[in-house]
Amino acid sequence: MDVPKNHIVILKRPLYLILIMIPLLAGNWSCAAKKDMEEKKIVYQKNKIIPESILNEAKIALSYYPELEDVEIEFKFKEDIKKSFMQAQPKVSNLFKGRKHRSYYVFMSSKFAIEKEEFSMADVPPEVLIGWLGHELGHIMDYRDKSAMGLVIFGLRYITSANYIKQAERAADTFAVKGGMGEYILATKNFILNHSHLSDSYKARIARLYLSPDEILVLVNKLEADLEEAEREGG
Ligand SMILES: [Zn+2]
Repeated sequence: MDVPKNHIVILKRPLYLILIMIPLLAGNWSCAAKKDMEEKKIVYQKNKIIPESILNEAKIALSYYPELEDVEIEFKFKEDIKKSFMQAQPKVSNLFKGRKHRSYYVFMSSKFAIEKEEFSMADVPPEVLIGWLGHELGHIMDYRDKSAMGLVIFGLRYITSANYIKQAERAADTFAVKGGMGEYILATKNFILNHSHLSDSYKARIARLYLSPDEILVLVNKLEADLEEAEREGG
């Protein structure tokens, strides 16, 4: 999830303003895909909409989550996901219709960058894609337990607290690993780490910290940006 920094400002305002902002915020959360790729979509399990190009990987990831069989999920390409590759969100249109009627998006970027090197969906090995999808489905498992208001609060805290992001990312991975997707999650992490120029000891440290794929991607790209800035300042 990635929302502009200026939303943080609302926390300093009175409560009624925050309440007024909630629908706006929620709207921003799931602003519809600008350019969903012109691709054939398959309906699977009666309630999953999946672009044909990732159908096999999505089916495998879903097979680890029998709990999500009755949950409506739409996998959708979206061009403007910042920093990350995928993003799971509740659909705002039926957020307040009760937990059972809630549905979700898994937005996917057709490309993403690791240290400025661009990767497309086609560059990613199947097991890495399965792991990534499994992590996103882990987020949906986490969202499923929350009330609508709980999700709005989740959104706010996710935007404003690095610590909360860490908790949320860990919760998603925990669902995936408990469901039996540990190997896939590792494949995803290793893919990011192996395509970065971090030293082996640094990679080992990241691996030890049990970070999620999202966290690793953001961290690796931030380190790269910091390094460049230091080089510029150093002359
Ligand atoms: Zn995540």
